[in-house]
Amino acid sequence: MPAPHVVVLTTGGTIASLKDPDTGAVRAAASPEDLLQLVPDVGDIADVTPRPAMAINSWNITPPMMLDLVTTAIDALRDDVTSGVVVTHGTDTVEETGMLAWMLNPTGKPVVLTAAMRNLSEAGPDGPRNLRDAIRVAASPESRNWRSLLVVNETIHDARFVTKTSTVNPSTFASPHGGPAGEASVTGIEFFRPPGEHGTVSPAHLNAEVPIVKTWTGMDASMIDWYRERGVDGLVLEGSGAGNVPGAILPGIERMIAADRPVVLTTRCISGPLAPVYGTGGASGGGFDLMRAGVIPASRLTAQKARIALLAHIGASMTNDAINQWFRGV
Ligand code: ASP
Repeated sequence: MPAPHVVVLTTGGTIASLKDPDTGAVRAAASPEDLLQLVPDVGDIADVTPRPAMAINSWNITPPMMLDLVTTAIDALRDDVTSGVVVTHGTDTVEETGMLAWMLNPTGKPVVLTAAMRNLSEAGPDGPRNLRDAIRVAASPESRNWRSLLVVNETIHDARFVTKTSTVNPSTFASPHGGPAGEASVTGIEFFRPPGEHGTVSPAHLNAEVPIVKTWTGMDASMIDWYRERGVDGLVLEGSGAGNVPGAILPGIERMIAADRPVVLTTRCISGPLAPVYGTGGASGGGFDLMRAGVIPASRLTAQKARIALLAHIGASMTNDAINQWFRGV
């Protein structure tokens, strides 16, 4: 049997970073070949093709760049010889790129993202091991039908739900909704549940303007109105609890929806579904009233993931009804 073929796309981030001895600053400097050299037994795992995509920190990756990257990954997966694609990425926004890959990948083969918290100049860098595990997952037949995964710390996460929880700790990634999808341990690749099914989206672009507005106690509608007057294409709200916002902003939300701009609701809670239970049938700002006003609940997605999803839907020219349906099922 020929060895599985895996494409490794590199983008920069800590996994490819070294400390510059002159300035002391840490920056992406390692080439894809440098990274693979740090995985001495890689040839026993897969036949790997390294491809540099970019060499930057992930907070500078824009949605259009994410779309290019994910499209490149999917194109590589369409090649029959490729078992999976690994994307090395900065940890700060890997969850957004992972979300996009989850939405777009129709191939039945996985986009496997990986990252690191300790750069290559530090003692005990986690990047080489994470890269090795990501290549194992991408090469494994067990990973079929998982659209997009994040592999770090011997743990396999569904990229749709994973989020960064610590600024510096190597065990930063968690999947508060349902826990990890599986393990990449010394004993092998094991998934704890099947991937689930959901339709894919095909955006022509990711250029829409969609801000995230975190709500606060005592907030009024002026910021929501400012965004509407600015002409944003949609809005993601991050409310509190089960999905509630201060009642004083509801008129602004209603004006946004009347202007045909989708408003998607998320919560600042780290786990649990949105539950539209509170309301007066009027302007309480409770989730019940928000749904009646036409706000779209983002199910279990974080604000940053819901924003990527909304950008993709707008870029695919989907109707507000279709967007609503998609978010309810995610
Ligand atoms: N701290 C980040 C990382 O882990 C930097 C980045 O996102 O580029 O890679």
